[in-house]
Amino acid sequence: MDLRYSAEEEELRRSLRAWLAGVLRGLPQKPRPDDWDARRRYDMGWQRLLYEAGYGGVDWPKDAGGRGSSPVEQLVFLEELQRARAPGVGVGFVGLLHAGPTIIAEGSAAQRARYLQPILAGEEVWCQGFSEPDAGSDLAALKTRAVRDGDDYVVSGQKIWTSHAQVADLCELLVRTGTEGSRHRGITWLVMPMDAPGVEVRPLRTIAGSSEFSELFLDEVRIPVANRVGAENDGWRVAMVTFAFERGTAFVAELLESMELMRLLAASAKESGIWDDPCLRQRLGSLAAELDALWALTRRNVSEASRSGVPGIGGSVFKLAFSELRQSMADLWMDIEGRSALVWGEPADMWVNSLSRTIAAGTSQVQRNILAERVLGLPKEPSTRTLEG
Ligand SMILES: Cc1cc2nc3c(=O)[nH]c(=O)nc-3n(C[C@H](O)[C@H](O)[C@H](O)COP(=O)(O)OP(=O)(O)OC[C@H]3O[C@@H](n4cnc5c(N)ncnc54)[C@H](O)[C@@H]3O)c2cc1C
Repeated sequence: MDLRYSAEEEELRRSLRAWLAGVLRGLPQKPRPDDWDARRRYDMGWQRLLYEAGYGGVDWPKDAGGRGSSPVEQLVFLEELQRARAPGVGVGFVGLLHAGPTIIAEGSAAQRARYLQPILAGEEVWCQGFSEPDAGSDLAALKTRAVRDGDDYVVSGQKIWTSHAQVADLCELLVRTGTEGSRHRGITWLVMPMDAPGVEVRPLRTIAGSSEFSELFLDEVRIPVANRVGAENDGWRVAMVTFAFERGTAFVAELLESMELMRLLAASAKESGIWDDPCLRQRLGSLAAELDALWALTRRNVSEASRSGVPGIGGSVFKLAFSELRQSMADLWMDIEGRSALVWGEPADMWVNSLSRTIAAGTSQVQRNILAERVLGLPKEPSTRTLEG
């Protein structure tokens, strides 16, 4: 493992910095959070600019349309974007950070040719149809059914918590193709066009007032067999690849943003005088140290991923620690702001949203179970069916 930046990596940093300095000046104003059509245009417009400048998929392989850079160069890329306060991936999150990488790792040549370029060019938005009302942490209990009929699967069922579904073109969808009760062994990973007849998207409103989630109701939706990624009934393994990307490297940009926020919080505490409170300084110091440790872990994970091609178990360590740390940071920000934090603004928004981070992409409890079993080698937890039986 080599954690130093090479001459090529520093060269990427220099050219990217120069490009960002020019392009960011011409960006349109950021849209309102709940104007989803405008958000799609803004996020896809930014992705298009990156693509045209050769930065569309820095860590994607060259034969997948990317730049073919190492994961370390991807870190340099993210560092520079954060430093310049460039836009994030926004509604491109699923396509760029886990659906695309899953298709690179598991898709056929025809699927790679069909799906990858439109993601990089900012032409197609993806969403993730995994969770169901009775299958969240226990994802292997999912019931959405797919029955083979000629060259199609006919899919019926319900998905929930589908982020950005209202602006998505495609959905990475997990369906049951095996018998009822087949659990992990009877699941298949499909690409569902969101405009297929029988797909109904019903937006949900969150406690923060946002409509980022939807429910998906699927009524006899015909999905070509050609849209299956991996073999029939092998979708659980493919989904684990998706999760490895989602938990492994997808949140690095937010980590960098958090490090910047810590600097701003320290400055704000000094300005308002509460810096004199030793307890507050201790909280700031300990959170900053944890962020530093997570940055070191990220570089270790990235170094490991550059050898294997898929992020390893370190992704679960990162996801667990980082999502809990974001909550502590949000608490601290609220305390520094004092009474003014009660007016809805950035600190309150982060505080409410940080609650969801320990749930999204697998809850903290689920990550602890994974780490207990796969890293520490502790016995498997008894299944609920065993407990009930
Ligand atoms: C911001 C956000 C974005 C999301 N986006 C998407 C998306 O785009 N697509 C999608 O498919 N899903 C999405 N989800 C859904 C997410 O994957 C689920 O919410 C998550 O997997 C938990 O499932 P659940 O909500 O059904 O909770 P449950 O599984 O019902 O869990 C309830 C509680 O029980 C605990 N628990 C459950 N099982 C165990 C166990 N074995 N051991 C210990 N504790 C346990 C959980 O940790 C949790 O505290 C999103 C969620 C959030 C918050």
